Order: sequence, then structure tokens, then C-alpha cells
Amino acid sequence: MIQMNYHVQIKSISRLTHDTLCLRLSKPHGYRYGIGQAIEVAIDNPGYEQQFRPFTLTSLPFDPYLELIVKVYPDHGGFTQALSRLGENGPLIITAAWDSYDYRGEGVFIAAGSGITPFIPMIRQLSLSGRIPGHTLLYANKTEADIIHKQALNKALGSRFINILSREYHSKLDYGRLDQAYLKDKVSDFSEHFYICGPEAFSGAIKGYLINQGAAEAQIQIGY
Ligand SMILES: Cc1cc2nc3c(=O)[nH]c(=O)nc-3n(C[C@H](O)[C@H](O)[C@H](O)COP(=O)(O)OP(=O)(O)OC[C@H]3O[C@@H](n4cnc5c(N)ncnc54)[C@H](O)[C@@H]3O)c2cc1C
Repeated sequence: MIQMNYHVQIKSISRLTHDTLCLRLSKPHGYRYGIGQAIEVAIDNPGYEQQFRPFTLTSLPFDPYLELIVKVYPDHGGFTQALSRLGENGPLIITAAWDSYDYRGEGVFIAAGSGITPFIPMIRQLSLSGRIPGHTLLYANKTEADIIHKQALNKALGSRFINILSREYHSKLDYGRLDQAYLKDKVSDFSEHFYICGPEAFSGAIKGYLINQGAAEAQIQIGY
């Protein structure tokens, strides 16, 4: 089957944290996607049109734009650095959206750093439909400055938004590793759904801790 690609433009770029950008892209007419889906993105400049990288759509399907939240790695000298250098109207090629995460019911979102991206549209949708109770977000970062959308997540989730920092003491946020003891302390029901997103080592470790605490493997989702 021939993969359908779309030519889009960057409509706006804003900085969310010191190393994270929010890109809003033009939305092709009739473009459809679901919450938790991802796309492949390439820069539409000579020599780069075939270099696709995966990113999660953080907008909601009815938004008039497509939104990506991109962590930039300048030291890799690769895709995200090139993307960060494009300005407004920067040309991109995107693929159709494909399943990455799938919302299956109430439970706990567990994210590290830019791993928050699939949960942003889910939480926004839950908030819009008044279904936040029954959901918790455990969010691990190095420092407070790394927390993406801190205010918006706080507003949506209130006391169900739990931050843990590994490299900075903060009077109002937890400090340390998101390990088994921490999960045991923060999670009251291990029969719920668990959604984990972060670096592979993080996701694998968290999944193991959850299973040790009695969570069923079928209830745990891990994506990128
Ligand atoms: C399904 C899915 C969804 C994703 N969604 C998002 C998202 O919403 N937001 C987001 O920010 N990211 C997301 N990612 C991750 C994102 O695709 C990568 O972070 C990104 O493509 C890497 O870009 P880069 O700048 O490292 O460039 P690349 O061009 O991919 O890498 C450049 C070079 O850096 C090298 N490199 C790799 N790691 C290191 C390292 N630690 N130190 C030095 N060099 C290194 C590579 O070998 C390569 O040669 C997602 C990934 C997947 C699989």
C-alpha cells in the first residue's frame, strides 16, 4: 500500500521549557487522527525529505491545527536541532497518524520528561469532559524547569498531579527516584490502567515495579 504523505507548514513555534518547543502545524483538509496517535515528520528541504522521525500529536482531533511538542537535542546535531532552526512557515512532510497510545480507562499516567506528550491530549480531553477524577499523573523530571505544561497540568489535575524531581530539591515537589517504594506510596489501586511513557529503561523499570505490586501486564501500556 502506498503511504499517503502531506505537505504542511509550521504556523507557530513557542518555547515550553529550556529544551522543549511547541510547534503548531497547518492541518491538511480532511486530516483525521485519534488521541494518543503519532506521526512521522520530515523536513521538506532538499536532501531531508526522506528523513522521517516519530512524534506524538498533542492537539485534539477537533483543533484547527496539528500540535507537536518536541524535545530538542542540540548535541545530537540531528533532526530535532534542524527542526528547531526552522521558523514560522517552515515546510514539513507528515505521514498519516498511527496508533501509539490508546486510552482504555481510568488509571495512572506515569511519564518522564518529554514522555508526557501522549498524555497531554488525553488529559485535556478528560478535563473537557469532566472525567479527571479517577486519573493520576506521576511525572518525573530532573528539575522544576524541565516540567512541561506545569500550570496547565496543575489546573487540570490539581492534587492528582504529582511531580518528582531527581536533581533538584523543591519545597513543594517530591525528590528522588520514581521507584517501587515511591509507586507503592502513591498508587492505591494496582488493578487500574497504567500508561507509561519515557526512555526505554525508565518504562521497563516502571513496568517491572508495577507487576511486582500486583498490576496485570495487560493493564500496562508502554509506548515509545
Ligand atoms: C512513537 C514515538 C513518539 C515520539 N513522540 C515524541 C514527542 O512527542 N516528542 C519528542 O520530543 N520526542 C518524541 N519521540 C522521540 C523522537 O522521535 C526522538 O527524540 C527524535 O527523533 C530524536 O531526534 P534527534 O535530534 O536526536 O535526531 P536524530 O537525527 O534522530 O539523531 C541524531 C544523531 O544523534 C545520535 N544520538 C542518539 N542518542 C544520542 C545521545 N544520547 N548522545 C549523542 N548522540 C546521540 C544518533 O545516533 C544520531 O546519529 C517519539 C518517539 C517515538 C518512537
